[in-house]
Amino acid sequence: MDSTPARAPVNRILRSSIVDGPGNRAAVFLQGCNFDCVYCHNPETITLCSSCGTCVPACPAGALSVGESGGILWNRDACTLCDSCLKTCPHNSSPRVRLLSPKEVMAEIEPSIPFIRGITVSGGECTLYPDFLRELGELARERSLSFFLDSNGSYDFAADRGLMEITDSVMLDVKADPENGAEYRRVTGNDGKGILDKAEYLAKTEKLYELRTVVSPGLFDPVAVVEKACRRIVGTGSRYKLIRYRPVGVRQEAAAALAEPDDLLMEKLAGICAGHGIEAVIV
Ligand code: SF4
Ligand code: SF4
Repeated sequence: MDSTPARAPVNRILRSSIVDGPGNRAAVFLQGCNFDCVYCHNPETITLCSSCGTCVPACPAGALSVGESGGILWNRDACTLCDSCLKTCPHNSSPRVRLLSPKEVMAEIEPSIPFIRGITVSGGECTLYPDFLRELGELARERSLSFFLDSNGSYDFAADRGLMEITDSVMLDVKADPENGAEYRRVTGNDGKGILDKAEYLAKTEKLYELRTVVSPGLFDPVAVVEKACRRIVGTGSRYKLIRYRPVGVRQEAAAALAEPDDLLMEKLAGICAGHGIEAVIV
């Protein structure tokens, strides 16, 4: 039997976070995403590093170098987290990524275990690494920690029993109208096919913690999106997080093109949720 651990590219690990699911949690951010959302707030997590080397001379601390195999070496101790490499990278990537096994991730979380309720794995898109997730979920369960996933909704959760057995809940994005493939593709680079079916599956199996929609007026019709999404999770106890688009961490072209929603629109969306008996959270 192959016992090689399923490693995944880890962008960063937060030992303590109160914004990545219920309670105080450790949050693990994996590198790589199959979406390319116009408003992405962490665009440096989208692409795996191609080792082009562009960022190496841009590092003022000398923390980056090219290894013998041509890969980029990152010296964590020398890094000052100045982000020059992220700003220089032409490929929406980061050289500050480590290929870690689930056990290595748990070892980094270990000091905070007495103070956290669980682990949330985010990205990028964490479901690109299902073997890693299953193993990390097992380790979390051994330590009596809940295990949450933060997903863009592209994964076929129903087809992965092993992952569903080990996952306590999922936070799922609805990023545009999934019944309008062209619109979804314009916003995310992916047609969003079946996302509401997945939301419904997760909700009915009590594995949907919340749906989430980032709202930017003019990007898509948020009223139609929230209405359609609510209909699919009504009566299941899942909640809906309505996220104001803010121009923080986004690419320059997004910051120039996208608008922030006003309170009136956010309250209107919350009212749609309330009309379906669904708790809305505006952030
Ligand atoms: S953040 Fe990037 S550029 Fe800045 S010191 Fe660290 S590796 Fe170098
Ligand atoms: S992080 Fe970006 S700039 Fe640096 S080597 Fe990788 S792809 Fe090139």
